[in-house]
Amino acid sequence: MVKVTILLSSVLGLLSSLNVSAKTEYTGDIINGHKVISKLDVSDFPLNSLTKLWLQMPRQVNGQAYHVPVIVAKGKQDGNRFLMNSGLHGDELNGIRVVQRVLHDIDLSKLKGVVVGVPGANVNGMYESTRWFTNKEDSGSHVNLNREMPGEPNKGSFGQRYAAHLWSSVYGSNNFTVVCDFHTTSTSGTFPNFVYADLTVPYVYRITELTGADIVKIDLGVTALGSVESTFGKKGIPVITYEIGNAKFWQKDQIQRGYDYSFRQIADLDMYPKTTDPAKIETYEKQRKNIYYGNEFLDTNVKTGGFVELYAKPMDIVKTDQIIGTMFDVFGSKVEDFYPKADGLILSTNVNPLMTAGSFIVTVIRNSTDPACINGC
Ligand SMILES: [Zn+2]
Repeated sequence: MVKVTILLSSVLGLLSSLNVSAKTEYTGDIINGHKVISKLDVSDFPLNSLTKLWLQMPRQVNGQAYHVPVIVAKGKQDGNRFLMNSGLHGDELNGIRVVQRVLHDIDLSKLKGVVVGVPGANVNGMYESTRWFTNKEDSGSHVNLNREMPGEPNKGSFGQRYAAHLWSSVYGSNNFTVVCDFHTTSTSGTFPNFVYADLTVPYVYRITELTGADIVKIDLGVTALGSVESTFGKKGIPVITYEIGNAKFWQKDQIQRGYDYSFRQIADLDMYPKTTDPAKIETYEKQRKNIYYGNEFLDTNVKTGGFVELYAKPMDIVKTDQIIGTMFDVFGSKVEDFYPKADGLILSTNVNPLMTAGSFIVTVIRNSTDPACINGC
């Protein structure tokens, strides 16, 4: 039996050294010194390695492909797999810096398993400085990549194919144990440190604790079908959408919170040692105890266009008789006061004074006692 085991392990070792089972597809191109792939399978990569790659995407109108940056950190031993995705909306930049910093600082000799980072998934959106993926055919159209997962290869618009390729080539092809999709609010909005989480998926409640976020929205994801979160969640894979602050900024405090969460996350998955820094532990324990779990959003919207002065900010506790904004016409005459739709906590504000009919001014989050809202309304 011992001999058989030795023989088997040596055969497996030989197969591994020959890379016979390789599934990562290399195009043969090299850009800025990094290899280009069309599909990622992290099981091909050697232990104790950090690899920066370009994922070749569908081709643009001029026949040139977009390339999405991917970083693979593989530890000294096999173990769990953590995916850190960012920039799926092209104006949401804080998460990109989280991915860069975590993958730069991670000590491979202490890592057990694999961390994959995507520092900026929507290359088109970053070129255009917008959350959308912009299709250029006809008069142009917008695709929300975070509503198109898993998609179907070679079907739909350019943006839909781009989303499908991200899914089939990285997100959905690597048996990730836990997934964090980093976002921020959209341009002109404000967010605190905030998480969307479907608490019916095993281990997701624990992830929300590990974030130490200001607010967790308990959410089944039914209004965000096709998101990275809902697509992994449907498969029972623990996942959160982690909204770290505002668009078009690199906010150091928000980035630090995403960074610290990521190391707590891999420690909780037995992939990395826990921090022993007393200051970090104390800060986190305070944050964890103060997380607000809410299950319902209520927006205050304007009925017509005009200029709005705001009197509220995220994390303010507000009541329905409190003025949170006033609309003025272009001559400065008051048009209307606005109030929150419910008593609760301000989650988000619209800081662009120029409002069009239907624009939201503030979003309040509260904890509805309606039994139908227990997993989110
Ligand atoms: Zn987003």
